[in-house]
Amino acid sequence: MQNLPRLPDGRLEERFEPAKPPYDPAEAITEANRCIYCVDAPCIRACPTGIDIPTFIRKISTENVKGAARTILSENLLGYSCSRVCPVEALCVGACVYNAWERSPIQIGRLQRFATETALATTPMSALVRPRKAATGKRVALIGAGPASVAAAGWLALDGHTAVVFDRKAFGGGLNALGIAPYKMQGNDAIQEMEWVAALGDVRFELGQGVDAARLAQLVDDFDAVFIGIGLGADSALGVPGEHGPGVYGAVDLVERLKSDPSFAVDAPHGAVVVGGGNTALDIAHELAVLGVTEVTLAYRRGRAAMSGYAHELDAARKDGVRLLEDAVVTEVQRGADGEVTGVRVARAEGGRAVAGTEWTLATSLVAVAIGQGRVTSLVEGLAGVQVDAKGRVVVDAATHRTGHPKVWSGGDCVNGGKEVVNAVQEGKLAARDISRALGGA
Ligand code: SF4
Repeated sequence: MQNLPRLPDGRLEERFEPAKPPYDPAEAITEANRCIYCVDAPCIRACPTGIDIPTFIRKISTENVKGAARTILSENLLGYSCSRVCPVEALCVGACVYNAWERSPIQIGRLQRFATETALATTPMSALVRPRKAATGKRVALIGAGPASVAAAGWLALDGHTAVVFDRKAFGGGLNALGIAPYKMQGNDAIQEMEWVAALGDVRFELGQGVDAARLAQLVDDFDAVFIGIGLGADSALGVPGEHGPGVYGAVDLVERLKSDPSFAVDAPHGAVVVGGGNTALDIAHELAVLGVTEVTLAYRRGRAAMSGYAHELDAARKDGVRLLEDAVVTEVQRGADGEVTGVRVARAEGGRAVAGTEWTLATSLVAVAIGQGRVTSLVEGLAGVQVDAKGRVVVDAATHRTGHPKVWSGGDCVNGGKEVVNAVQEGKLAARDISRALGGA
């Protein structure tokens, strides 16, 4: 089995407590016994990977924990991390029939964590999924080691293929290891899951291996199929004076540093301003507040109703002290004599645009910019038949995740523009299924 490098000790991430502690067996059975095992259960329809939720919950209630894990993993090889990082309030838990009765919905995510974590602590994943097929001799290269590629590699391995996953970073897992809010899941848990998946068959991770366009073309020639799971690019910039320099961070970069870099410290004696209204903005604002930054302001250019971030995440961030500033546009980052951030100029916004003459100064020591990420699809544009749409997303067939190139499939954020881990996992599964059909291993 391949041992993957772990994130080092001494990172800020380690200071966070879990927002949802794991259930003990008695708690899990009590919660499982509340489920009424609905026919045509809405929770299943709300799960992007289609896990048979009432069945796994029933198995927990009868103390068949391995059976519950089998039910979960048969649809979702990353069912462990999904149990921790899925926005269940907007998916399965949000769809539970108990909501309509104004009663607390079944805590499906916590039950899923209990089943997978308990079973995988004593049993290899290979004993909890279908048997591996005979080796086919076919080799698949996967570019990017995020959840789409990890899921695809696992299913390909079970179909008897060799899967080689390349990632330019020293640590695997992509955003599942380096981008998840630490109070949901810590990076080394995602890396542990990658090892479980890799042990399903012939899966190898080549970390610290950047793939450029020339290398990609070579991999397409050398391998029987290629899966592109490269995610999104660098954080977008505000494009305002004073932005470039110490104290201003892209939000994804900032989260990655506090999760992976032991030398990184947050120094914000005069507070932090987070710019954006999506879930990345909510996560980093919440994380800064939990780390003890005294004044954390979330500046959003429209009103709360227009925010793409989940309402439950905003509520949780506000409980920990994050202040929401609606209809506010940051127009400048101000710096002191030594270049340190001292504040931002903020204008009142109408329709998302700054209104001239309305600016005021907000003192701050740190600015985090969470207004989206660029695209890295230039990597694939040289491959004949691979198309990129006007939004910079790789174009695939929705059912098979095939691109227009006969040997290239794609999935995850580079295709969907940035959705949840569970969407990437499902897209990796669909692609793997079709790759196996094409290679004759299905
Ligand atoms: Fe159980 Fe709720 Fe799903 Fe019904 S909707 S099966 S009660 S978890």
